[in-house]
Amino acid sequence: MKSFHIITFGCQMNEHDSERMSGILQSQGLVPAASVEDAEMVILNTCSIREKAEQKFYSELGRLAHLKGRDGKRITIAVAGCIAQQEGKKLLSRTPSVDLVIGPSDIARLSVMVEQRKDGGRRVVETGGDPEYHHKLVPAARTDGLKAWVSIMYGCDNFCTYCVVPYLRGRERSRPLRDIVAEVRGLADCGYREITFLGQNVNSYGKGLEDSCSFPELLRQVQDIDGIERIRFVTSHPRDLSDGLIGAIRDLPKVCESIHLPVQSGSDRVLVSMNRRYTSDEYRKKVLQLRDAVPSVSLTTDIIVGFPGETNEDFAMTLQILRDVQFDTIFAFKYSKRPNTRALDLPGHLQEQVKEERLEQVFALQKEITLRKNRQHVGSVQEVLVEGESRKGGTLTGRTRGNMAVNFAGPRHLKGSLAKVRITSAGPNSLSGELCA
Ligand code: SAM
Ligand code: SF4
Repeated sequence: MKSFHIITFGCQMNEHDSERMSGILQSQGLVPAASVEDAEMVILNTCSIREKAEQKFYSELGRLAHLKGRDGKRITIAVAGCIAQQEGKKLLSRTPSVDLVIGPSDIARLSVMVEQRKDGGRRVVETGGDPEYHHKLVPAARTDGLKAWVSIMYGCDNFCTYCVVPYLRGRERSRPLRDIVAEVRGLADCGYREITFLGQNVNSYGKGLEDSCSFPELLRQVQDIDGIERIRFVTSHPRDLSDGLIGAIRDLPKVCESIHLPVQSGSDRVLVSMNRRYTSDEYRKKVLQLRDAVPSVSLTTDIIVGFPGETNEDFAMTLQILRDVQFDTIFAFKYSKRPNTRALDLPGHLQEQVKEERLEQVFALQKEITLRKNRQHVGSVQEVLVEGESRKGGTLTGRTRGNMAVNFAGPRHLKGSLAKVRITSAGPNSLSGELCA
């Protein structure tokens, strides 16, 4: 087996896990192939956060199985990520085309598994979860050159009643500070300018570490690394948004004024039922505190509509919190039933059509808010990290500290630098501007 191709579903954590699997395989001498057709091994790195993500995986698997059967082509199919963890051995018995199944905390064993399967060896399942995974230094094959994801913790202890993550990614474990700092130093040496720390609840970083360390302390340490210009992080749980983190965003110049703070619902009754452990007023207060300390902060959130038992009144409160808080952007989802989660047993599951209508209302309201907020940037001068040519070509593209995409005319050699751009117009998804002299 000489070449591989990875198809990634889901969140940034999965994207980064794919970079790690790619790093492991490349260190074993395999080369990345540009497409499934050119690869001898295909890894499907899966997501099971919502039913739709699962369906996407099964249809892709069907396509691959067909390819394998039709051509008699000896492609090895590996399933990684959350569905691998959820289904384990069952994937082998139900889907004869699958050769390897590997859970998110077992990635470090990928090379051994590939060896075992090579030359007609047995099919292998690894979903036991390596208890030492957070101490492992797994190589990541990053391709961006400018912006990098860095995992700082794995798993989650929050057990929101709708969510599969704690069951599939295990208990919360933080990586040691020295390992993270060394990884970021290495990235700076390779020319990376921006890092995004990844974790399900970054604000509780450090729990259980031998040498105790808080998330703001980690940010302070990384602030001192030459070469890194910007630091971002996802996700923060509202309950754990501490004064220390607000102070770090305010005081540390490299920490971008941008935070993703999922509220999920505007109804206290639903928030209790979701086990989110804050009220909508506590959430509003945190936002006020944040904006008081960092007036330019950009704020994004996640919303779930149609949670079991959500009444019209509860839903109206979700619309109200969107009007009150005025998020820059949101990610909104219909509640989706997930195996083993407590919300499955709650009364009052809603019909798909009700969820659909509520989701549309949320999107329509937020569209207006986002456009209005984007237009407020017109006339301002923004610091933009230039990422290169825009997809359409003809202009450069980059992101503001608030993580807004900006297109503007300028010379190509600006790629990788911080440019000052005056914003001249705003659309729903991006800004346009001109380079300041
Ligand atoms: N750890 C993060 C947090 O608590 O904010 C986010 C984790 S999850 C990968 C991303 C988002 O998916 C959640 O914030 C939630 O809005 C959504 N989500 C999770 N489970 C869901 C479900 N069963 N149905 C619909 N949306 C769900
Ligand atoms: Fe899931 Fe809640 Fe943990 Fe986020 S905090 S990963 S939504 S259980």
